[in-house]
Amino acid sequence: MTDCIFCKIANGELNAHKYYEDEDVVAFADVAPQGPVHVLVIPRRHITSATALTREDQALAGRLIIVAQELAQELGVAETGYRLVLNAGPDGGQLVPHLHVHLLGGRPLAPELG
Ligand code: AMP
Repeated sequence: MTDCIFCKIANGELNAHKYYEDEDVVAFADVAPQGPVHVLVIPRRHITSATALTREDQALAGRLIIVAQELAQELGVAETGYRLVLNAGPDGGQLVPHLHVHLLGGRPLAPELG
């Protein structure tokens, strides 16, 4: 999608520190990190949110989680622990309308949700 910032990061039009990319998935540093490790894992294809996923996307949705946990290991937070967050829609706190999984780690995170 032409005016989507995450599509632009995925296709190289916008700069970001990329940790990983393949034909389907891109992972890059969040511009406003909430902790020592804050990576966003996105599908290369523009999918607006989790709400737009279909059963045909199940392999891709699974890959987002696998890539996130692989990065947790590479970035050294798998042992201490981390959080994967997927915000969907306005009440879910989603600000960027391109599906993304946050990988947060490197500090203790509050146990409560929301
Ligand atoms: P969400 O509230 O789940 O939609 O999260 C959007 C995230 O995208 C926030 O954590 C932002 O800091 C991050 N973000 C916004 N613009 C950029 C950008 N150009 N590069 C990297 N991260 C970004």
